[in-house]
Amino acid sequence: MAAVIDGRALARRMSEETRASVAALRATHGLVPGLAVVLVGADPASEVYVARKVAETTRAGMRSIEHRLDAATGEASLLALIADLNADPAVHGILVQLPLPPQIDAGPVLDAIDPAKDVDGFHPVNVGRLSTGTGGLVPCTPLGCLKLLDTVIEDYRGLAAVVIGKSNIVGKPVAMLLLERECTVTVTHLATRGLAAIVRAADIVVAAAGSPRLVRGDWIKPGAVVIDVGITRVTDAEGRQRLVGDVAFDEIGHARAATPVPGGVGPMTIACLLANTAQAAWATVDG
Ligand code: NAD
Repeated sequence: MAAVIDGRALARRMSEETRASVAALRATHGLVPGLAVVLVGADPASEVYVARKVAETTRAGMRSIEHRLDAATGEASLLALIADLNADPAVHGILVQLPLPPQIDAGPVLDAIDPAKDVDGFHPVNVGRLSTGTGGLVPCTPLGCLKLLDTVIEDYRGLAAVVIGKSNIVGKPVAMLLLERECTVTVTHLATRGLAAIVRAADIVVAAAGSPRLVRGDWIKPGAVVIDVGITRVTDAEGRQRLVGDVAFDEIGHARAATPVPGGVGPMTIACLLANTAQAAWATVDG
């Protein structure tokens, strides 16, 4: 049986570490990290994510600052708010919840966030730092994937890693992190030919396609480590909603270790957001 990599347990441990780091920052510098979350409109999934982020931020001892804007808000008003948050010394992290309504182009909005407060790690400066291996804030879900891998892999050097999906928020940053650890990385996507054969050669598989049960048991090399980022909401025969990953988890007993869905990558994203916010706040006192 493959070992199950428990994302909930690791996320709890990380959040405890962040809480301790926040307490130390308050004790030594009298500073309370502040995370500003901006939600435009009332997308139900975004509402749930934002509520969770606010609750976890407060639980970690940080200040949560919520900005809820009307769905009809224009780009100029959002950019003005971001300029205010950039200038506010009580705000150490800024997160603009995506997706934005159609009248707002996400590109200029994300570019407007001060890179030092860009706790999502989407600003081009942080993307550049990640790809040059020069620090910066790393996107939360990819960072969570690497923390999960770190629980089972000590030496990454020379391992063959396959990333399925090339999005800017998951696939590409995961690939950069694996490359930094000296894996031999193959990034695949919808136009990739012979995906199954490519995955069969991998020691590490990170699936971030959003395609339920795309990765079958016979795609996985015995002893491989599998991280399943995919989350698709499906309705089963009894009409119940459940979350399905990109990997047929029940078919990969011959893997060395794997993350389940739910309970794998999902819980790590908020834990990494909190860690990034604490890191951004410490950076203001550490220089
Ligand atoms: P995306 O749609 O932006 O990108 C998907 C990528 O997968 C694309 O590059 C596409 O080419 C590739 N792809 C899709 N189907 C494929 C197939 N059949 N074969 C090969 N490649 C294929 O999605 P995203 O934002 O990167 O998210 C990917 C998945 O991860 C989604 O299920 C999303 O819900 C999930 N996700 C989870 C978390 C979390 O756990 N916290 C965070 C972000 C995304």
